[in-house]
Amino acid sequence: NAYQPDEKRYDKMQYRRCGKSGIKLPLISLGLWHNFGDKDDFENARNILRTAFSNGITHFDLANNYGPPYGSAEKNFGKIFKEDFRAYRDELIISTKAGWDMWPGPYGNFGSRKYLIASLDQSLQRMGLDYVDIFYHHRPDPETPLEETMGALDQIVRQGKALYVGISQYNAEDTARAAKILKEQRTPFLIHQPRYNMMDRWVEDGLLDTLEKIGIGSIVFSPLEQGILTSKYLHGIPEDSRAATEGSYLDKSQITDEVVKQVQELNKIAESRGQSLAQMAVAWLLKDERVTTVLVGVSKVSQLEDNIAAIKNTEFSQDELQKIDEILK
Ligand code: NDP
Repeated sequence: NAYQPDEKRYDKMQYRRCGKSGIKLPLISLGLWHNFGDKDDFENARNILRTAFSNGITHFDLANNYGPPYGSAEKNFGKIFKEDFRAYRDELIISTKAGWDMWPGPYGNFGSRKYLIASLDQSLQRMGLDYVDIFYHHRPDPETPLEETMGALDQIVRQGKALYVGISQYNAEDTARAAKILKEQRTPFLIHQPRYNMMDRWVEDGLLDTLEKIGIGSIVFSPLEQGILTSKYLHGIPEDSRAATEGSYLDKSQITDEVVKQVQELNKIAESRGQSLAQMAVAWLLKDERVTTVLVGVSKVSQLEDNIAAIKNTEFSQDELQKIDEILK
């Protein structure tokens, strides 16, 4: 069954300019960290991507090591891209990254020119793409000179393998240093990808100000605290949840009684706003214009639909904001 994206897709989504660039991103973007590996249901993965695009989500975020096994999310995305999305390549912003552990030996990790360039070549091959729209250094490398890593990003753009570059997980100070080098090289530095949600607010302590000053946008990951900021854990830990999955980055032990109590309180505020908790968590991030797009992960189409509806109400009263802060303090 050939995929026909909804013709009204661009009326359903809103787009925000990414810093001072020419690119606008959808308020909601889709990440492929989980649910697109070889152990996952391929048809489900495909339906998630189709639903995303049919709702105006033009941005899919990947990395070399998403799976498991490493590389399999890119490979599966490549299969789906070939069948469903090839005709829409110019309507899509596709990103990938390198920076975490990928292959054995000293050249498959961190931030060397050797690693970044080889890794992107592998990623392009797995996805069946000629170029990505954004290539990221996935995390800071304390040992490699920043000039080398930023030089590799520049080379990748000059080679035509990426249109823009980004960095992820860099603190404010290193971000400013990276921006200076990229500016000197005239490398198109588009975006920063930090972790940000109601429960994890480190970006408010300098990073968002720095991004605004530099003139780049942000795409925030784990906006739902991996599912904690939804109604899913209100009454125990469902079997098909990330917290119940062996080897995931969310452990059962993180769902403490105290967390559940906070989430129950947050859920009441969400209800009073006429939103699901997931929607309120997404909306809470979008209230700040410096957040260009919220990068959600989903294991089901219904979750994606739930999250997308968040954009209907991103306004908060002072009273609501204060109550949220009090619950989480
Ligand atoms: P989220 O905080 O959005 O958590 C996603 C998980 O929450 C889903 O897999 C699902 O889990 C659950 N969920 C999502 N929506 C709902 C809903 N409406 N109702 C109930 N449960 C819901 O984000 P992720 O942690 O997955 O990160 C998102 C993306 O960010 C990644 O895919 C990746 O692209 C990027 N990322 C980047 C990193 C970096 O270092 N740059 C690090 C981590 C992520 P369940 O399986 O329980 O159903």
